[in-house]
Amino acid sequence: MRKPMSKLSFLLIPWSGVFAAAFITTVGAVLLANSVLPFFYDGEILAETQRMTPFVTSITAFPFCCFVWAQVRYNILLGLELRNLVERDRLTDVATRDYFFSKLKSRPDSYGVSLMVDIDHFKSVNDTYGHLAGDDVIVAVADVMRDTVRENDIVCRFGGEEFVVFLDRADKAAGAKIAERIRADVAARVTQTGVGPVRVTVSVGGSLKEELENIEQTIQRADEALYQAKSLGRNRTVMDWDKQMAA
Ligand code: GH3
Ligand code: MG
Ligand code: MG
Repeated sequence: MRKPMSKLSFLLIPWSGVFAAAFITTVGAVLLANSVLPFFYDGEILAETQRMTPFVTSITAFPFCCFVWAQVRYNILLGLELRNLVERDRLTDVATRDYFFSKLKSRPDSYGVSLMVDIDHFKSVNDTYGHLAGDDVIVAVADVMRDTVRENDIVCRFGGEEFVVFLDRADKAAGAKIAERIRADVAARVTQTGVGPVRVTVSVGGSLKEELENIEQTIQRADEALYQAKSLGRNRTVMDWDKQMAA
């Protein structure tokens, strides 16, 4: 779902790419220098200058080109790092909330199922095992979701121990099935933390996003379904369209 790097950026990341680019631009500079010489010299001086130019141009232009392309490489790496900071959550490496909203707002015609996933009684995990173990659990839950969804779906860390999953083009049946799989996989998983194994459960609320529907409204309905899953005892999934039945 992420925008791919341009081919030029990709080629310039290894240092060999920087040297290759410097070499090519140096050759270009030599050819250019040789082609303008006849405008300034002729006869024997021209021949002698043309013989010397490749050598002189190479030793002056090559280090300069290396420097310029190294700066370009540095800027590319900086851009990638910046994009990573904005788009990826530092702890879990799933999408950030900003990226999630910008992605869905840029595609208003997208439809599918939104799932709001919240770790149950997470405060007591922190209180019992400490915040570092709590962090390990958050990462493990994110991993379960990442392993469950398909390439075009988005998993996003919405806030502390809350995630939103957008299942692209999923219908009600597929959405409910994936929600239940996430719930069951988290419940079955034992996270090895620095202070021992920890098990948690999640509650999941789901809602359907129709084409052109505002994503905030969809999330709001998923949140209401999540609230119901919590009040029904946690470790369960409630789909917005089943809410009346579940109540
Ligand atoms: P519920 O079952 O109703 O969801 O209860 P809960 O305890 O999970 O919910 P509550 O909102 O009371 O507590 C969430 C806790 O998550 C409180 C906060 O300290 C913790 N938290 C938020 N972000 C992080 C984080 O990045 N790391 C860790 N370890 N804890 C976090
Ligand atoms: Mg919680
Ligand atoms: Mg919460």
